[in-house]
Amino acid sequence: MTTALVIGGGVAGPASAIALQKAGIEPILYEAYDRGADGIGQNLVLAVNGYSALLELGVGHLKPGFDIPRYRFHLGNGKQLCQVLNGDPLEDGTAAHAITRSDLYKALRDEAIDRGIELNFGKKLVDAKIENDGVTAYFSDGSSARGDLLVGADGLHSVTRKLIDPQELTFRYGGLWTTGGYATGINPPSQAGTEFMYLGRRSFFCYIPDHDGRIWWYATVTRPHEPTPQELSEITPEAWRKTLTDLFGVDRSAAVDIINATEAIWPPRPIQDIPHVPKWHNGRMIIIGDACHAVSPSAGQGVSMAIEDSLVLAKCLRDIPDIAAAFDKYEEIRRPRVEKIVEFGKDCGRMLEVRNQVRRTGRDVFARFAFNQKAAERGHESMRWLYDHRIKWETPVGRESVGAGG
Ligand SMILES: Cc1cc2nc3c(=O)[nH]c(=O)nc-3n(C[C@H](O)[C@H](O)[C@H](O)COP(=O)(O)OP(=O)(O)OC[C@H]3O[C@@H](n4cnc5c(N)ncnc54)[C@H](O)[C@@H]3O)c2cc1C
Repeated sequence: MTTALVIGGGVAGPASAIALQKAGIEPILYEAYDRGADGIGQNLVLAVNGYSALLELGVGHLKPGFDIPRYRFHLGNGKQLCQVLNGDPLEDGTAAHAITRSDLYKALRDEAIDRGIELNFGKKLVDAKIENDGVTAYFSDGSSARGDLLVGADGLHSVTRKLIDPQELTFRYGGLWTTGGYATGINPPSQAGTEFMYLGRRSFFCYIPDHDGRIWWYATVTRPHEPTPQELSEITPEAWRKTLTDLFGVDRSAAVDIINATEAIWPPRPIQDIPHVPKWHNGRMIIIGDACHAVSPSAGQGVSMAIEDSLVLAKCLRDIPDIAAAFDKYEEIRRPRVEKIVEFGKDCGRMLEVRNQVRRTGRDVFARFAFNQKAAERGHESMRWLYDHRIKWETPVGRESVGAGG
């Protein structure tokens, strides 16, 4: 039986391990951190295209989290522009889903364990060598493992990517910092299953009420210059809270109350993406997920892309006996879509930037035009390439209808 070493226990790692097993390949997963890393608490939105791919893997509906079928756009002065669907729901009514990162990681890892997949924690990949029709992975604890192929699902700062192509990549800074948290004991205007988004006068704010009385929120703050790690580390939690309440204090929204009702605000994090990774594989090793196409969180697509990747890669390996040829096919199918989504994410981020008064006024004029209810509904139609993307496990690779995913 073909053995795949899967590096990374985030989203793409467990999802691809599950998909590879479905394809008749034996996956063995290696995650750098111990299980304690599950505690990473950001909230994420799983879009319908990603949810569809997850169901196609046979994972079933996610129990943690809740559905958010729609979102509402407002300007900083409080004016509501539109309310539209977060992509059309699937046939069974499944909609976009809000979930914490830790719950999603746990759900996927538990599913992999239930299927008898071997998961190894505390195994940080440091090197890999192709030799004698196989690949050997070396870990920081001195151990090693051998397989027929290696799938690098090791995230933004992927070691696998550097092993495949040592060339330094350009990370593109998006001009924004992101932050967020969970507020309690507060009741801002809300509607079940709806994200409330504010194109604020100075920054962007979004909140979602959950079913337990908490308010999940995130914000992006315009910062034209990319910060150094040193600059970021010098921002205290108190100073960051003050910055946020100052920024959102000029808007007519519940942002300041929500920020003040949040015990632990996530430290600021600069938004970066990777527009183009020239080399995805070297015949035995391949990268998937953020390792090969990190997208701005503004797109709300990183998780969905990782799950789609997993499904398509497993289909290619199922249907094409030669590993290198299967990797080529995978890249041929996936590259156009993921690079388009990365550019879409960059454009979404641009909409959220507020560099000065003139640009903000221009942005608001544009938003009134582009996000009035009628225009937003038309816009919804134009986003079908993104949200209506469906990958069917049973369909042989390459035989999907145009616009579908392999
Ligand atoms: C603030 C923020 C908000 C976001 N919001 C959304 C959202 O709403 N919707 C959405 O779809 N996406 C969102 N994203 C993007 C999403 O989180 C990523 O696209 C997604 O997690 C990618 O999954 P991955 O498995 O490729 O990488 P990761 O989730 O980063 O997982 C990589 C895993 O590999 C492990 N690893 C790393 N190096 C090694 C090594 N050398 N050896 C072994 N293991 C290793 C890591 O510990 C980690 O567990 C957001 C991202 C950020 C930063």
